[in-house]
Amino acid sequence: MSTPSGNIEAERILLELNDKQQEAVQCTAGPLLVIAGPGSGKTRVLTSRVAYLIATGKAWPRQILALTFTNKAAREMQRRVINMLPKGIGDGVTMGTFHSVMVRVMREELREGWLPGFTHRFSIYDTDDTERVIRQLMEQHRINKKTITPRVVRSAISRAKNRMITPSQYAQAAKTPNQERIARLFGPYTEALHGANAMDFDDLLLKPLELFRDHPQVLEKYQRRWQYVHIDEYQDTNRVQYLLSRLIASIHTNLCVVGDDAQSIYAFRGADMRNILDFQEDYPDAAVVRLEQNYRSTGKIIRLADSIIKHNRRQLKKDLWTQNDSGDHITLIEALNGRQEAEKATDRIRVHHERHGYAYSDFAVLYRTNAQSRNFEDALRARRVPYRVYGGTSFYQRKEIKDALAYLRLLINKDDLASLIRIINYPSRGIGLKTQERLVDYARFNGISVWAAMEQSRHLQLHSRAKKALMAFLTLTDRHRSRLSSEEPDVVARELLTEAGLFPELEKESTPQSEARVQNVQELISAIAQHTADDSEATLSTFLQSVALLTDADERADSQDTVTLMTLHASKGLEFKVVFIGGLEEELFPSYRAVEDARKKNSGGLEEERRLFYVGVTRAERHLYLAHARSRLRFGFVRDCTPSRFLSEVDQGVTRREGTSPFEGAPSAVTFGGGRLRHFHAPSSSRSLVDPKRTVSQLPKTEAKPISIEAIRPGLHVLHDLFGAGRVVSVSGHGARKTATVNFAERGQMKLMLSFAKLRVLS
Ligand code: ATP
Ligand code: MG
Repeated sequence: MSTPSGNIEAERILLELNDKQQEAVQCTAGPLLVIAGPGSGKTRVLTSRVAYLIATGKAWPRQILALTFTNKAAREMQRRVINMLPKGIGDGVTMGTFHSVMVRVMREELREGWLPGFTHRFSIYDTDDTERVIRQLMEQHRINKKTITPRVVRSAISRAKNRMITPSQYAQAAKTPNQERIARLFGPYTEALHGANAMDFDDLLLKPLELFRDHPQVLEKYQRRWQYVHIDEYQDTNRVQYLLSRLIASIHTNLCVVGDDAQSIYAFRGADMRNILDFQEDYPDAAVVRLEQNYRSTGKIIRLADSIIKHNRRQLKKDLWTQNDSGDHITLIEALNGRQEAEKATDRIRVHHERHGYAYSDFAVLYRTNAQSRNFEDALRARRVPYRVYGGTSFYQRKEIKDALAYLRLLINKDDLASLIRIINYPSRGIGLKTQERLVDYARFNGISVWAAMEQSRHLQLHSRAKKALMAFLTLTDRHRSRLSSEEPDVVARELLTEAGLFPELEKESTPQSEARVQNVQELISAIAQHTADDSEATLSTFLQSVALLTDADERADSQDTVTLMTLHASKGLEFKVVFIGGLEEELFPSYRAVEDARKKNSGGLEEERRLFYVGVTRAERHLYLAHARSRLRFGFVRDCTPSRFLSEVDQGVTRREGTSPFEGAPSAVTFGGGRLRHFHAPSSSRSLVDPKRTVSQLPKTEAKPISIEAIRPGLHVLHDLFGAGRVVSVSGHGARKTATVNFAERGQMKLMLSFAKLRVLS
């Protein structure tokens, strides 16, 4: 180990690292690529390098830029850097996501007229907002939602934008009827955003590129400021991010990127693995450091991970090893259905928590799609295990919160049409659809914003009641807007939302749900208060910006002891003592599209899904569970499921199977007695009735056998795909009209039409 600086702080930083990691940290000049497998300390190298640059005096904090994948990761990095250095020394480093840093640049630099259509007060439209805009345009252009959905249009436009294709280029290249429909909407969509002074997520990176191109003095300012640029998770950068980092680092080329090609999982959003694979071509003088020791996981987890990624053809070879103990076998769980899968996960969590002293925050339940969280939530709630779901319908996506935010966004940016339309008549104040349409038409005809049209509404042919309502609404918002310059934003927000009628509207219902909604809005106001209390430069505008830029993983509140539920995508970069991955079934994970593409001999999607599996597996430190269900309720139907091909690819030498059905006496088994289900925890040295050497696909399909309708009689124990196990109480009718009353253990008594119910009998 070399510690050449003679500087105590610098030496202390290096002491926490292995030789290879030290090499990377000490390589401070010129381009540097750290490419290495999961858990090998890439992020730790990045953080240490930032601290090291400061400790050795090679850079001032404000000369350092560190780009990470989530805001939370950025905060965590900042905290660590600050801890590694004497008090007050580490502040001032610019850390954040590409999006948040570029928004800051634009808020600071954007002058009137520099980017056509935008001022520095621009709103940020999330996918929900942009879909609303597209839906409206589709109506205007008479494009039927049955032919193409707003969502498909949005993602096609987003992909095109990220490939830097303009609306006219897109129109020229459009071939299929759907592409032609998208082409008709692309231009108007861009104009609608201009008109609303609003940027979508893609614009947040594209517009800075334009700004840098058209106003080189701005680029130069940041090139001079950020002498040292760092990027974590470089394998998931897209073309625009690549260009931005290249531009910023082009003078000094002090660009340090770290990543793992085997963990590239965002191709569907335009991430391009070539950015990392071609780094050495882009920077022929780049230093390259490979890290091979994994500090995170047990030997068996690493062996399993290795056996997964080996199946991909496109990857750089990496040898990962660990000094950690080899650990427990990886448990493969087969469940009857999604609900039982969740119950098994919950029982496991409780066993680890109660017997082995793990905190709830040591657990993560990961899944492929947000919709899968529901079963897990139900099971955890039923057993009183605290949990938090990240992503999906997160706090800031709730309707009442989005309504409240729309009011607040209008205070900052009057032209924000999506926000205006959302709340102009909510709560109802007599500004009906006709009035709104007239306003929009007037605005378009006169080339002004809808807000300006409202201000001129006396020239419009409108019912006097509508005019009055418009004036009242205008006065209300204008008054609160002007208060913002001198009063606390949370006070203004509370009063605006009360006077606008949002609180009274929610309170009116007076149901437990509406009370929860009121509390949520109160919580939002507290969040504003907290935001502005923490930082003297914080305003309502910076609050709205931070909310708009939240990523799926950002809402993780580390202070609370809760189980984490999140998609595999959101789990990138994180680590947990115990990880449970659910839904390992064909057409779910790997996804339907990947399976379909693979059938057509295009394995790109499948390889990406496999990398996602690899990312999930390598989040685990000590225990790993991989589960699949035999049937699952998806899109309103119960489907039979085939175990994921990934399960047959994993190294069987490090796995152990848990019993197929709940009736086999496996851990966390459910037993049947007197028509009720009982849950018990079997001893951990459980006996599995399934031959561990058999592959998943060879496992018996079911212990519940099909039965003819005629044979169903009272007293039989039966299984229903959706409602689980139950006992037939009575039957009536004959043939296709025969019905049975079944007492389900979890749902109680239900009457079923047997020709639809497809009951199976439990032996
Ligand atoms: P991923 O690819 O999943 O993002 P990574 O390569 O970024 O992983 P880190 O998150 O930096 O890995 O490190 C994984 C874990 O190993 C962390 O808990 C980290 O603190 C620990 N670790 C890394 N290097 C060392 C080291 N030299 N000594 C002790 N612990 C280490
Ligand atoms: Mg990392």
